[in-house]
Amino acid sequence: MKVRNYFIYSFIFSLLVLILSACQPARSAPEAPVAAVKPAGSSAEMVAEPANGQLDEIDGQMFQQLSKTFALFRERSADIWNEDYRLDQMSLMLVRTNGEGDQYAYLLNHPNAENMADAQSILLAAELNLPKVYRFDKIPNATAIADVPNFDFNAVIDGVETYVMKYTTAEIDEFSSPITFDWSLFVAHEGLHDAQDSWREAPSNGQDTAGYPLEADHIALIMLEDAAIKAALQAEDPAAREGAIKQIVAIRQTRINRWDAVRLLDLPQEQMEGSARYIEHTLGSLAEYGTTNLSTFETALEPVPQSNVRDSLAFGRFYSTGAALSLFVDQLNIPDWTKAIEGGKSQFDLLAAHFDMSESEIAAQLEDAKQTYKFETMLPLAKSAAETAASEPTDIWGDSG
Ligand SMILES: [Zn+2]
Repeated sequence: MKVRNYFIYSFIFSLLVLILSACQPARSAPEAPVAAVKPAGSSAEMVAEPANGQLDEIDGQMFQQLSKTFALFRERSADIWNEDYRLDQMSLMLVRTNGEGDQYAYLLNHPNAENMADAQSILLAAELNLPKVYRFDKIPNATAIADVPNFDFNAVIDGVETYVMKYTTAEIDEFSSPITFDWSLFVAHEGLHDAQDSWREAPSNGQDTAGYPLEADHIALIMLEDAAIKAALQAEDPAAREGAIKQIVAIRQTRINRWDAVRLLDLPQEQMEGSARYIEHTLGSLAEYGTTNLSTFETALEPVPQSNVRDSLAFGRFYSTGAALSLFVDQLNIPDWTKAIEGGKSQFDLLAAHFDMSESEIAAQLEDAKQTYKFETMLPLAKSAAETAASEPTDIWGDSG
């Protein structure tokens, strides 16, 4: 059930990120909806709601965002992840909820949608350039869909595995509402998890967050690694960036040599969640969603907290570190790297193979990093974080874990 766990945890973390992003200054909202609802073809039934033939604001904004996102996947998929991840071609069902129940659904890219019972063909504004959309006032497979909390990759709709995403108004649930660009990044993030069903997972301990080592020595090295990652993210000169990346590899290798859990938890989590967070960055950058923190690494690498230490260091951190390491692999022009990730390599594996440092070079880079980032100033904070971690529950998932 490891894979399913990724989905659940990724959603929890997405909420955390969205909560964080909600604290940011207001972002510009998507453009006003231009999508019109019209019956398509002479045999199509009239759409029952909304009666005025216009999509309501939320549906309009949703299709606006899908339009922009799909266009980028159509034209720039190699710059988002690779040509094989095509969100714009996936069978996708968008289910409108009112907080108490599901109301209706739109189905896109389903091969048999037009022949399904109760399908209503929707004609959207041509400039949206979206695939044919069918609306269902009676939701297919409604009983099973009602049990879907927010999204599900493996729903079966008329025999076809379909990515189901629920959405609603901001008043009901801001985080499931297409009112900001973050929503489309969220859809793309979870969509990549769907595609990950066919990936080979890097060696894993089954996401054993409870057993993750959080003694002061380890937390100090995590803080050192974070400092080097930040330096590499901020470096404008490629040589300076490469120097910082070598430090990261040395610190990470040191941690792996000392604690098996680093190879078995950091690496597979970075492979799966880091890549999904990374495409929020690539997609958001291509779309010029410059003000969302998901597309700018603005919230990357929060300082080691003084509460919920395990939650942060054995789970949440890997989204940011994995996204950052993905970016570094890309910046180093390591060929076919996304395919290597899909084949079971982690981002760290690719960086380590690229630099292929000897033991003595790793030791020298580690020392260099300790000097550069003032390692001795990290030790007291690491010690207090370790004490906090020791006082907190090891089961960060509660009953669901
Ligand atoms: Zn995720």
